[in-house]
Amino acid sequence: MILDAKLAILADAAKYDASCASSGAAPRNSVGGRGIGSTEGSGICHSYAPDGRCISLLKILLTNFCLYDCLYCVNRVSSNVQRARFTVQEVVNLTLDFYRRNCIEGLFLSSGIIQSPDYTMELVVEVARVLREEHDFRGYIHLKTIPDASPELMQRAGCYADRLSINVELPTPQGLAALAPEKDGAAIRRSMARMAGHIADARQSRREQQGAAQVVSLPGSTRRAAAPHFAPGGQSTQMIVGADAADDRTILATSAQLYGGFRLRRVYYSAFSPIPDASRALPLAAPPMVREHRLYQADWLMRFYGFAHEEIVPARQGGMLSLDMDPKLAWAIAHPERFPVNLNTAPREMLLRVPGLGVGSVDRLLASRRVRRVRHADLSGLRVPLKKVLPFVETVDHRPGRLLDSGHLQAFFATPARPVPLAGAPAAPAPPVQASLFG
Ligand code: SF4
Repeated sequence: MILDAKLAILADAAKYDASCASSGAAPRNSVGGRGIGSTEGSGICHSYAPDGRCISLLKILLTNFCLYDCLYCVNRVSSNVQRARFTVQEVVNLTLDFYRRNCIEGLFLSSGIIQSPDYTMELVVEVARVLREEHDFRGYIHLKTIPDASPELMQRAGCYADRLSINVELPTPQGLAALAPEKDGAAIRRSMARMAGHIADARQSRREQQGAAQVVSLPGSTRRAAAPHFAPGGQSTQMIVGADAADDRTILATSAQLYGGFRLRRVYYSAFSPIPDASRALPLAAPPMVREHRLYQADWLMRFYGFAHEEIVPARQGGMLSLDMDPKLAWAIAHPERFPVNLNTAPREMLLRVPGLGVGSVDRLLASRRVRRVRHADLSGLRVPLKKVLPFVETVDHRPGRLLDSGHLQAFFATPARPVPLAGAPAAPAPPVQASLFG
């Protein structure tokens, strides 16, 4: 099969994996003609497809053959799709070629499982080794790892990659057993724990080395070997949303456990896409994309805004996030007793709970109130969405009054119903599709 045809198949097969954002890469460059690639300067720049997926990396599978039969996966052994497989050298050449043509900033490499987890992982690691050691490639590399592969291979992967990920796939062990029976949830978590240990050890070594570097210039001191490198961008995972019956509360509880237990950098949520010849155990339709979006918003609240997952989706809410409003606004409307928040006296934790105030605007507010009292007009200067913020805050010259009544708030923020198109009116625009680097 010619390379173009393989590329079309294996790039298309990789589009279902959402966990490819490249934040957290170690700074590297090729200034002075050393090596090829950089993660500095403008940094890893991301392009996003209209549906929000990142496309700045060469995102491919080594092969879409797979021994496993995960029901939701288009590459499963029983799937009737055209198969293809790259050699290690082909992936290396494509990465360097696209990089030189300024099409990509790095490589995201995943694979179906061929022969055995170790055999497949060896090939994936070999791609990264050749890029780094033989071509001095300094761009970004994200490797998707196979949880059943040996710990030694996982460790080698971390030496070459900026980020590693293992897909947890489904939010519950029951979901995994039903839809991906060959996958072992306990093995996935064991691998995550091992990687978390390696990442923490490497960070500690780097901190110690930075401390030692401050005394290396003293007479008689000797230069120490470089600290070991292990996935400086950390590890991430992906959960498929809507393939099983897990509700948003369960999904967020699993994410909270993964963040807490394994210090994951990111959990990605990927709305289930119906696939050809699908099992009857799968839903016929994809969940609404807005569900995926609300989960990302809720995830953000857990990581940066101090919310616990059980606060975001209380049990009484049927386990689902509202599709009509963002989860922070929904929480605020459900808790009028916590408002109004006085912008001149409230602690940072409470300011972060005000709808419409982000981390940056809260920090600017805190800085400004050190020198003067916050007034209504100051909010415009902060460029916050006034309609969202004003019902929940008080300043020297503003009080929300009756607007804070939860009945009023519900009505005030209700999303207007979408107009029903008239017969003969132009059709709605086609839904966004995955953008492609390959035409
Ligand atoms: S192991 Fe991965 S590639 Fe193979 S069928 Fe399962 S999800 Fe698909």
